[in-house]
Amino acid sequence: MQVNSHAFRGHDASTGEEIAPDFPVSTAADVEQACTAAKQAFADYRATSSEERAAFLEAIGDEIMALGDDLLDRASKESGLPLARITGERGRTVNQLRLFAQVVRSDRWRGVRIDPAMPDRTPLPRADLRLRMVPLGPVAVFGASNFPLAFSTAGGDTASALAAGCPVVVKGHPAHPGTDAMVADAIRKAAQACGMPSGVFGHLQGPGNELGSALVRNPNIAAVGFTGSRSGGLAMLKIAQERTVPIPVFAEMSSVNPVILMEQALASRGKELGEAFVGSLTMGAGQFCTNPGLVLAVEGEGLSAFESAACAAMADQPAQTMLTSGIREAYAHGKEALAAKPSVEKLATGKAGDGSTCEAPELFAVSGSAVLADSSLLHEVFGAASLIVRCADIEELKAILRGLEGQLTATLQMDDGDRETAGDLLAILEQVCGRILANGWPTGVEVSHAMVHGGPYPATSDGRTTSVGTMAIERFLRPVCYQDIPAELLPAELRDNAKVPKLLDGEPA
Ligand code: NAP
Repeated sequence: MQVNSHAFRGHDASTGEEIAPDFPVSTAADVEQACTAAKQAFADYRATSSEERAAFLEAIGDEIMALGDDLLDRASKESGLPLARITGERGRTVNQLRLFAQVVRSDRWRGVRIDPAMPDRTPLPRADLRLRMVPLGPVAVFGASNFPLAFSTAGGDTASALAAGCPVVVKGHPAHPGTDAMVADAIRKAAQACGMPSGVFGHLQGPGNELGSALVRNPNIAAVGFTGSRSGGLAMLKIAQERTVPIPVFAEMSSVNPVILMEQALASRGKELGEAFVGSLTMGAGQFCTNPGLVLAVEGEGLSAFESAACAAMADQPAQTMLTSGIREAYAHGKEALAAKPSVEKLATGKAGDGSTCEAPELFAVSGSAVLADSSLLHEVFGAASLIVRCADIEELKAILRGLEGQLTATLQMDDGDRETAGDLLAILEQVCGRILANGWPTGVEVSHAMVHGGPYPATSDGRTTSVGTMAIERFLRPVCYQDIPAELLPAELRDNAKVPKLLDGEPA
């Protein structure tokens, strides 16, 4: 809520009440100042050694831990997420910073490739070619509402951009200003202690589209990391493309994360799957980008057993506090819109909340033919709602998969007897999503080297990359080739004796 045009406050997500103190609303002058300072810091920051940059990332983690319970309490209050979940999220945030410190120290991110000169090659000699990756420049990061720590001020986008050598200007999510302010202070302290240039981190806060738009429009910004709605991500993309100098936007937006229940798996464990599915669907009030919002299976006894178990489990689920009033309203509206479709059957509802800050989970069903006739049935409803699609046969199921929008994940619940069909489905799914799981649930994203949290549009605005995991650093780097540059003028990592991982004439050396 905006207290006045200069200040705003956070809210207790479970009561809707304002929480002191006031936070200043960043102005156009603040945007300009932060982006100019980031640009000025870029030259010094990109020149820091791997060790200096890694130590900075680790120091941010240490400063976040030093905030102790005050940070956990504030984040839990502002988000409505239980303390245990926030504690886990803090661990993930700090581990993510430490993992990127390891990545920086490894020097593999530098992507060094050397193709030595071949002066005697005929018919033409080859020049000496040396490639390395360089940082793009200041990155604008939009904090996410649903991860007040791990995807916000010191979250994955910030960690990967700082690791790449890019200063960061964060636009905090207006749902958790107190959490953001504490984490921003921790980053500033770490920057000071590590002797980083002061503009290496900027922090802007306040509600209203104009702030984020001005940030993306600012000519000193070289790339954008965003997590949120499809409309918000597309708005940022449009602004970025209309700039005099267009810039890349890495927006993670919307996904329904199909779960495919295969015949043998349903026959052997339909009930068990139904119960586990509801556990995944209702975790965190369903406010995960990887929430299983779509279930596909061929009709039969196995699917009936799954549905019965899921309905029984759903009936016991309490309504949960949602992150913001806006997200709760969008969720309630999404459920109503689904229920109003003549083809859709409402299967189960969890326990009702008071309707002011909580919303109940809900389960719907529809036929495969109805989905093929109306793709709007497959739009994301952000929250603990899911749609079961009862397919007439496996060919109908495949046709639906082929027509899906881009997804972050797809999950196969399969037994040994399902392997042949699963092989056919894999070939379709890899065209559709960024991560394919067997016999797991999509909620829960490991931060590691082989993780992909990405996918074709609208899961993200650029399906060639990931926003979780160490590969995320590549979003903020670009290659430069040095041709026949005298050795003493070459960057240190491109010289012959440099001890960095490299490809020498295409082979690891
Ligand atoms: P959001 O409305 O997209 O907001 C995300 C950030 O972008 C906020 O800082 C917001 O600030 C800014 N923003 C949004 N639209 C903008 C625009 N047109 N121009 C400039 N800035 C803009 O996302 P949200 O508040 O987190 O949740 C709303 C919906 O997003 C949810 O109901 C859900 O559908 C979706 N969501 C998806 C994910 C996911 O992981 N896929 C995660 C969270 C939410 P201001 O509003 O102050 O401008």
